[in-house]
Amino acid sequence: MNHPFHAETACSLAKVRLRIEIHRLTQRAQLATVVEFAQARARLGVGPAVLSRAGCLDLPEFIRCPECGAHLAADVFEHNVDTGVPDTFGVHLCCTALQEELAQALQTDTVPVWNHHFLPLQWAGVNRLAAEWLHRNVRIAP
Ligand SMILES: [Zn+2]
Repeated sequence: MNHPFHAETACSLAKVRLRIEIHRLTQRAQLATVVEFAQARARLGVGPAVLSRAGCLDLPEFIRCPECGAHLAADVFEHNVDTGVPDTFGVHLCCTALQEELAQALQTDTVPVWNHHFLPLQWAGVNRLAAEWLHRNVRIAP
């Protein structure tokens, strides 16, 4: 009799479907939050965030490392001095997982395992997304 096997399989499939559904709903909620925030900011006339000087800043959750999925930070090293808008090509994206790996290697005097390849094609979409987000949301003050 294979009844218990069927019950286990059905249960496993139900768990997988549930995880997929939760992931789908989470993604939808995150996107809705980003859109609603942008709409509210526009409606209320709230301008972009202003950094006191060029430097590293954390990017929002939806912009992630295309190689490992970790958070990304943006190192803004060039911007328009009149408007404060970060320059599209004056931004370097940093994977926080790699930064932590480097910090640990320095502390333990070991060689970090660099498992990122930074293939331009793989990073092109994330670079564009980050540049667009920075253009919309960040200004650099002198
Ligand atoms: Zn990464």
